[in-house]
Amino acid sequence: MTNGGYNIIRCPACSTCHGRQGLSASCPHCGQRLGEHGILVKAVSSAEALRIEVALQNTPEELREALRSRMVSNESLSSFNDEVPSRTMGNWVQQSVNEDGLITVRSVQLTLNKNHSDLDANDVLEQAEVQGMLVRMGEGRWMLLE
Ligand SMILES: [Zn+2]
Repeated sequence: MTNGGYNIIRCPACSTCHGRQGLSASCPHCGQRLGEHGILVKAVSSAEALRIEVALQNTPEELREALRSRMVSNESLSSFNDEVPSRTMGNWVQQSVNEDGLITVRSVQLTLNKNHSDLDANDVLEQAEVQGMLVRMGEGRWMLLE
């Protein structure tokens, strides 16, 4: 199940999906070790498609169509990568490490404010997590992967 694109992987322990380039070592939601045990749900070719598909997979089936049309028509979503190059966003995430060596929604929000960005800290974190920059340590806390 290795390929060059982005994979949507379902954790067999908590049934939650997450996106990853290549294989996942562990589930970002419950910490379950995955390796070969992760279930490859779907492979997509862009981070944008990955973001949408992961959200869809984690949505009850009867709500998916509504969510899909909302996400696909959401302009701020499609312009996300154009407005802020991912390199800039990456720098912001790196600047957001707090005194505990962790990144939180609050620390990212402070960095965004400092840079006069009106991006949502949650969106930035989600994007950084999808790109494999961050690993989730717990509710609302992430660690930077160098
Ligand atoms: Zn899990």
